[in-house]
Amino acid sequence: MAVGNEKAPKEIICPGCGDVIKNTAFNPITDTCGAMLQDGWLCPECAYRLRPKYPMHYTDDEPATLEKAPDAGRPILTMLRNDFLYADPLDPVDSTAFSYTGALRSDPLAKLRSEQIEDELASIDAYKQEVSKRFGGAKNVFEVLEVAPMPKLKPFCAGLPNIKRLKGTIAIAGNVRLGAFAAGDIVTVHHGSMRYSAKVLINRATTGFLRWWMFPNAIIGKPLPTVSTIDSSDLIPEKGGLTEGWHGVLVLSPEASDIAPGDVLTLG
Ligand SMILES: [Zn+2]
Repeated sequence: MAVGNEKAPKEIICPGCGDVIKNTAFNPITDTCGAMLQDGWLCPECAYRLRPKYPMHYTDDEPATLEKAPDAGRPILTMLRNDFLYADPLDPVDSTAFSYTGALRSDPLAKLRSEQIEDELASIDAYKQEVSKRFGGAKNVFEVLEVAPMPKLKPFCAGLPNIKRLKGTIAIAGNVRLGAFAAGDIVTVHHGSMRYSAKVLINRATTGFLRWWMFPNAIIGKPLPTVSTIDSSDLIPEKGGLTEGWHGVLVLSPEASDIAPGDVLTLG
């Protein structure tokens, strides 16, 4: 099942920390690394540290295309899938890694070279300080990329309590550039020169566009359905919140009705 890069050495040195990343038949580099670089591999810890500056960036509409590309980007999507997409090991489609090449298109780390990594890691603290300073010293900063009103939900899928509590709420997708955001947080919305508060009702990590989270029943290339079949289990906030460097969805209370792409949420 695991597809390794058999020509690569058994042990690969991470250019960020010097740690050895395993590359064996049982633990292929595509599973053990944190990201692929232009000319090497990063360990998961170093990739994680760089994520706030280099969040995954989704630019195409093929989140679930199955392609065979043995050593290209698999770990990132495998990790995301395992953690967040509820893969079913018995399902022949869902148990297979999502498009490796798609992951690479989404991962800005894949554009870096090994020789850049040390400097990049050294610059992360300054980057985070600068982000915090830009937003009045906030400890948590979320970059809003997409916005949509919560769609009409199906009682049998979402449950009546969810339909009631999510009436008039706003779904947003974007990146946590600093800190973490979780359900229950009262955040400050930075909308142009305006500042106001809204409550986070749901936090979910995601690996693609907002519409694919809102409409699991949508079909690529077709107009979005008028009613969402999103399941109540997808409306449960994830423990630990949406953390630094991750892309995800937050559902906000109706106060955030005018929030727009390019806005920012801060907390603390
Ligand atoms: Zn490392």
